[in-house]
Amino acid sequence: MAQHNHIFYKWGGGIEPDLPRVDHAHDEFLVTEDGEKLIDAAAGAAVTNLGHSVPGIEEIFESQSAEVSYLSLSHFSHDAPEDLARTLATRAPGDLSKVFFTNSGSEANEAAFKLAREYFRARGKPEKSVVVSRWQSYHGATFGALSATGNTLRRRGFEPFLTDWEHISPAYPYRWSFDGTPEEQARAAARELETTIRQRGPDTVAAFVAEPVGGASIPAAAPHPVYYKEIRDICDEYDVLFIADEVMTGFGRTGPLFAMEHYGVTPDMMSLGKGLTSGYTPMSAVLVNDKVADEFAREDVSFAHGHTFAGNPLSAAVANFVVEQYTDGVLERGQQRGQQLASELAPLADHPMVGDFRAIGPMVGLEFVADKDTKEPFDPSQKVYKQVYDAALDRGVYTYPGKGSVDGVAGDHLMLSPPLTLSESSVSRIAEAVEGAIEDVYSRVHPGVTA
Ligand code: PMP
Repeated sequence: MAQHNHIFYKWGGGIEPDLPRVDHAHDEFLVTEDGEKLIDAAAGAAVTNLGHSVPGIEEIFESQSAEVSYLSLSHFSHDAPEDLARTLATRAPGDLSKVFFTNSGSEANEAAFKLAREYFRARGKPEKSVVVSRWQSYHGATFGALSATGNTLRRRGFEPFLTDWEHISPAYPYRWSFDGTPEEQARAAARELETTIRQRGPDTVAAFVAEPVGGASIPAAAPHPVYYKEIRDICDEYDVLFIADEVMTGFGRTGPLFAMEHYGVTPDMMSLGKGLTSGYTPMSAVLVNDKVADEFAREDVSFAHGHTFAGNPLSAAVANFVVEQYTDGVLERGQQRGQQLASELAPLADHPMVGDFRAIGPMVGLEFVADKDTKEPFDPSQKVYKQVYDAALDRGVYTYPGKGSVDGVAGDHLMLSPPLTLSESSVSRIAEAVEGAIEDVYSRVHPGVTA
């Protein structure tokens, strides 16, 4: 039985009471105080991409803290953050060549939004301040990031927001109502950005932000490749910056190092977090392209924004070490494990409770529906997401649950986003547990019916 301690935690939805207490963790495993060895099929919240341990990390903590752990980067520089910025600039697509350090995914997006405003102010267009994003997105919990977030569950209760921003349809092929081929539908979805920019007034829109592939709200939802080509063209035509929120998709989560590589499109800014340190220490960053960075090179332009711990040498040294581990071999292994997981789970695509089955690299999303033909989500009171989560956990597998949207336009979800380095046998155990969990829940919500 979990002891209740002094940590304030009340997410809701019933997952919080009696949390299993973890004693220690390694590779893809979480070992509880009761001695149970759970498989972490979520990598935390798609964070520990290298698993809960990686040889050599202890030495990095030891040597960097012996050298220097903390410095105010406003007044001092040091090898660790400088090396990290160089490495990220080298490995990022296109001319994303400058790095602004932050501590969480939310902070990375906040910085990107403020950078966009300052960029246009520097160019004599201070009225360009609106950020356009998509419904069913997640960009963070702080007020600016939440204003851009389109996940209605996470927004509800915090209105009014600080900003009056715009949202377009999610990149969510399963629930699109556009006509035509997948390509035509993707074009139509992207064209909503143009309509919104025109309606709002191109002189007022600073940026469009999107998760390249859906994460916390609609896991593994990936639009047709033409979608981001259209988005890029629209942004260029209306002088709007394109921010790719790769906080979850970065560092191999969808196969390549960054998910935008699937699309061959380079954003103007890219937010990173999670896999940047594989969760060993908090750190995040915004990558900025030359066009934006060059404006800030001017003597009369500044960016008065920063966080105390940003770019601290200890986190930077850890991130340097972690980023080095994302070799072609490790990314390839993640892809292979993702393919294995997707193929072992593929029969679930026909299951009557599974409305949509999505997989891209080592990221799998299952969306549960009450009616497969109409795509009607389950009644939220049934808490299907939690039932599946609990049933998988009972089978020794930790997954990432997703509550359906409060407005009934998306079903309950389950995301699988294991460490890229997990073993083949763990993949099979995850697949078995998820299949079994879905069968259990199906027989509970449709008693007497077999799938
Ligand atoms: N953006 C995306 C795409 C995310 O998935 C998340 C976290 N799930 C965030 C931003 C926020 O990151 P953090 O929780 O580190 O603030």
